[in-house]
Amino acid sequence: MNASTTPELPVVVVGAGPIGLAAAAHLIERGLEPLVLEGGSSAGAAVREWSHVRLFSPWAEVTDEAAEKLLAPTGWTRPDGAAYPTGGDWAEQYLQPLADVLGDRVRFGATVTGVSRAGRDRVVDTDREDQPFVVHIRTADGHEERLHARAVIDASGTWTAPSPVGASGLPALGERAAADRITYRVPDLNDPSVRARYAGKRTAVVGSGASAFTALAYLADLAKSDDGTGTKAVWVLRRGISGSTYGGGEADQLPARGALGLAAKAAVDQGHAEAVTGFRTDAVERDGKGRLVLVGEDGQRLEPVDEVIVLTGFRPDLSFLSEVRLDLDVRLQAPVELAPLIDPNQHSCGTVYPHGHRELSHPEQGVYLVGMKSYGRAPTFLALTGYEQVRSVVAALAGDLDSADRVELTLPETGVCKGGGLLTAPETEADADADAGGCCAPAPALVEIGAPAATTSETTASGGCCGS
Ligand SMILES: Cc1cc2nc3c(=O)[nH]c(=O)nc-3n(C[C@H](O)[C@H](O)[C@H](O)COP(=O)(O)OP(=O)(O)OC[C@H]3O[C@@H](n4cnc5c(N)ncnc54)[C@H](O)[C@@H]3O)c2cc1C
Repeated sequence: MNASTTPELPVVVVGAGPIGLAAAAHLIERGLEPLVLEGGSSAGAAVREWSHVRLFSPWAEVTDEAAEKLLAPTGWTRPDGAAYPTGGDWAEQYLQPLADVLGDRVRFGATVTGVSRAGRDRVVDTDREDQPFVVHIRTADGHEERLHARAVIDASGTWTAPSPVGASGLPALGERAAADRITYRVPDLNDPSVRARYAGKRTAVVGSGASAFTALAYLADLAKSDDGTGTKAVWVLRRGISGSTYGGGEADQLPARGALGLAAKAAVDQGHAEAVTGFRTDAVERDGKGRLVLVGEDGQRLEPVDEVIVLTGFRPDLSFLSEVRLDLDVRLQAPVELAPLIDPNQHSCGTVYPHGHRELSHPEQGVYLVGMKSYGRAPTFLALTGYEQVRSVVAALAGDLDSADRVELTLPETGVCKGGGLLTAPETEADADADAGGCCAPAPALVEIGAPAATTSETTASGGCCGS
């Protein structure tokens, strides 16, 4: 991009979530003008949809440095760094104040529907990089607008595109028709109407990551409460239960993340959840009483359930980027340079190597996917990573390549590993597929507590894999 030809134009940031707002703070710090376009009506619109869920990262790891500097003159102080916010706390106590201090640099009710080069579709080369970007938006009242930008930072996340229950990655047969009984997020059991939906019922939980652990723990708590007698979860997994299925447990350097897996294990051990392994959902049918029956690709039919909670991960919405030239990994739909660092099929480390503008660049100069969206379908994204990504990307946009290339990031280890590294608790089924491995950190307690003997022998067989 010939930034000199469009210096007066803003850098458009798509999404006023944690990473988009941090990008805006870094742009201001660098003297560049941001324009944040948010489809929702408030900051952290996606985070607010899981406002009842407590983060497994403490405050100290979910606020951005440049954002804090911008907020400080308003008298804002970060809550106790060791405390764990809920999604609602994060949105109310940090994201909204940040958007407020950014003022009219954040536009709400502005959904980006297209990004391209002015007057050039993705085929045309002719003085392409001298053209500004054109961004199409749909406003909350349905109007279409178009504006120009010198660069585009897409921080629109993946929350709007949850993966289906179908093991093929497509909705299972009958899944759409059963939408009244299927949810794709952790239910808020503090909400009486939601609680009534699950209390005393039999619910299938499909997925095997932090969100699935959270749902299993919530349903187990409901089962133990006075108004939840008879509540039962059926935990549906595509693979068997191995040493890493429940995450790192006490070995996880994010103790709250480790605790999620332990809570899920307790739910199974205490009989509040029964695990069904090796089950790949192919169809969702209804029985005579209107209950749902999950049918496996091998024809296996699970006992009817009242509700299904699908937590099999997310995927990026690339529809509005069709006119720009992206280089995305065929599996993860993440930038090709980043994908090998986060691909659970290849890379078994929960610790993601520092990466910045270079790994996030595309053939279309001046377009960057950052935050949750940059990970595509990979599950191990942490806010800390996103804050470092935008610091580096904005430094590059400001022409400070020294700073842009100097990426410093140390992420909390997960305590679970397979062959030469550490591995996060699988978030999506794909990861569960990938990590049928042993453990190198001292086997998390849950391995000893009840993992099938086989697992233990695998562990010893690999004889402490890190560096072995
Ligand atoms: C339940 C849950 C718990 C998590 N816990 C942690 C944790 O403890 N620690 C941690 O580090 N990470 C955690 N994460 C992961 C991650 O940090 C969060 O998902 C974080 O919100 C990602 O920030 P983001 O800005 O990339 O995306 P998002 O927060 O998803 O923000 C994207 C924004 O873009 C908007 N948007 C989407 N499409 C458009 C469009 N076309 N036009 C305009 N606006 C658009 C959305 O409305 C949204 O506001 C968690 C994630 C989930 C789902």
